[in-house]
Amino acid sequence: MIQKGTTPEELNRRKQAVLPAWISTNYERPIELVDGEGFRVRDSEGNEYLDLFGGIVTTISGHNVPEIVEAVQRQAGRIMHSSTLYLIESQVRLAEKLVELSPIRGDQKVFFVGSGSEANEAALLFATHYRRSSEIIALRGSYHGGSFGTMGITGQASWRATPRSALDVSYAMNPHPSYSPLLEGMSPERRAEACAKDLRNLIETSTAGHIAAFIAEPIQGVGGFIEHPEGYLRRVKEVLDEQGILFISDEVQTAFGRTGSAFWGVENHGVEPDMITMAKGLGNGLAIGAVMGRSEVVDSISPKLHISTFGGNHISSAGALANLEFILKNDLQKNADEVGGYLKGRLEALKEKYEAVGEVRGRGLMLAIELVGPDGSPDPAAAMRFMEACRERGVLVGKGGLRSNAIRISPPLTLTREAAGEAADVFEDALAALGAEVR
Ligand code: PLP
Repeated sequence: MIQKGTTPEELNRRKQAVLPAWISTNYERPIELVDGEGFRVRDSEGNEYLDLFGGIVTTISGHNVPEIVEAVQRQAGRIMHSSTLYLIESQVRLAEKLVELSPIRGDQKVFFVGSGSEANEAALLFATHYRRSSEIIALRGSYHGGSFGTMGITGQASWRATPRSALDVSYAMNPHPSYSPLLEGMSPERRAEACAKDLRNLIETSTAGHIAAFIAEPIQGVGGFIEHPEGYLRRVKEVLDEQGILFISDEVQTAFGRTGSAFWGVENHGVEPDMITMAKGLGNGLAIGAVMGRSEVVDSISPKLHISTFGGNHISSAGALANLEFILKNDLQKNADEVGGYLKGRLEALKEKYEAVGEVRGRGLMLAIELVGPDGSPDPAAAMRFMEACRERGVLVGKGGLRSNAIRISPPLTLTREAAGEAADVFEDALAALGAEVR
């Protein structure tokens, strides 16, 4: 069934004529998704898929969730926009809910924006103002956004369209060997220790010595769902605390129960950040982001003024509130833990069986497998073929990592065990179709 009277090829030709060349779509024959329900989506030709990338780690509660749709429709039928010049009840309620759920202690403030990049921009603004310093430390392999400032703290060459940064940025050593080959062969404890030592050394030897903030994702998302070793962020926090350096946890991908074992990704590491940035899952795909942080830091720019015209508007706040209520009411974090644990087990079984499957990593419903060649080196071509084979079999996944060979799995947290099993069967079929060697 072809809707809108156009084929994907035709739509793609039109897109290429008027959208930037660097906006790439997945798949040789791009897909136009037109309908969705829960963790299933349908394209314009009537093909159905399991959405195992959850939009782009956005649709955390699933597609077309009646409670969220109704909240948005109800609000749109009343008033769509008024701005922060007026009171917005849903925005205040959303901020209260986030503070209630926050892992940060003490007084906090929430500033709403329209995206993850803007959330990080705002956090950087508050940190540099509060600390009266423009020095920032980020991690190699990080991704923090596509705006000028956030691109400047992103530690991945392929996402750095400019060598310039608005800030003085230093990159700390990433404790994962794919970003720091020197660490190859070391135990996770040794890697955690080595990288915390390196951070101290970096500050002492290579900076002006007055750092505003250290920013890190609890699990690096675009970087390929890279988990930090146990103890790493705790050791890092000790170094930061010695010098009063703020810690910004970029939770654009890891918040709201995504990791299963905690509501906020940073809670898996037992450290308390000064600010948390969020977007993607906050509105289940609606354009809303936020920075939540210690009041004295967020309010430090006062009496200067700052505004986001669309941040936390009526519709996105009402939708995000309904989304948070849905996540909590249905205990999606627990489901992410259980179904994610099962799916990770199935992925590990594939690693045992097939040479082409390298590292399996992640937690909850934020999981990745690396596709590797016979010598164990990253194999991006195999990852492409694997994605296409999964698509042909009705499963959509994401891709990422330094070498683009990591298959990223981040479905809505409503995924059932049966659907996870269905996906794992498809993965095995796809590996067999690729001609992957059995160990
Ligand atoms: N931070 C992280 C960890 C992200 O993964 C992303 C987007 O992928 C961003 C920030 C930027 O978010 P946005 O694309 O909404 O600006």
